[in-house]
Amino acid sequence: MTQHAPISLDAVAGLYAVATGQLAHVNCGSCPDILEGALVRDDECPACQLLLAADAQLRAADVTLPAFIAPDNASN
Ligand SMILES: [Zn+2]
Repeated sequence: MTQHAPISLDAVAGLYAVATGQLAHVNCGSCPDILEGALVRDDECPACQLLLAADAQLRAADVTLPAFIAPDNASN
């Protein structure tokens, strides 16, 4: 599946910062994790704010991302 949707570079940069650990979740509320699930967000967390910005753009583009399934060889 290759799907294209408009998303700002600011949103991509935010997602990149969260994914690379440059900006970590505070984990003091409803940050997404294996227990809370992928779709929860903490309004007080800077990393969640970046996710919320991307969420809004994806929603505006009428895009729903599928659940991510890690490949078997991704463990380390
Ligand atoms: Zn968070």
